[in-house]
Amino acid sequence: MYCSKCGVLEDKVIDSRPAKDGRSIRRRRECIGCGFRYTTYEQIEVVELRVLKRDGRSEALDLQKIVSGMVKACEKRPVSLERIEEAAREILSSLEAGLEREFPSRIIGAKVMEALHALDEIAYVRYASVYRQFEDIGEFIDEIHLLGTRAKPSTLQPELFTP
Ligand SMILES: [Zn+2]
Repeated sequence: MYCSKCGVLEDKVIDSRPAKDGRSIRRRRECIGCGFRYTTYEQIEVVELRVLKRDGRSEALDLQKIVSGMVKACEKRPVSLERIEEAAREILSSLEAGLEREFPSRIIGAKVMEALHALDEIAYVRYASVYRQFEDIGEFIDEIHLLGTRAKPSTLQPELFTP
């Protein structure tokens, strides 16, 4: 941070303590150049991810929305809510891990499809069909055909160990 008195970039922290509300750290700093003392506050950056929709609008990425979309796809399928929530949280943290803060909806959709593919084949096809809105019926049929070759035996077995 540039010193507001002399413009020098370097400073040293002379005191550091939690602010009254406990949500930030208050730091007393001294400019290396001129000795001017000032205070800074440090807070945890609230990471808000956003979805860029097809029509160009963007909205906050909501974990609950991802979960409800997946729940809908998994209706009457042997997939527990816990597993869906866990998969949704994994999607979210994989997105948070990068530097990007805004994602085209197709990226989110692709991640959800990937997660559903691992959870339940039927749910995956359902989601894929709704998600693509039958924009390209050929592509949708390709996807169904691909299932035959991509299906992993383990994901087709009933859940024996659900609590
Ligand atoms: Zn200074």
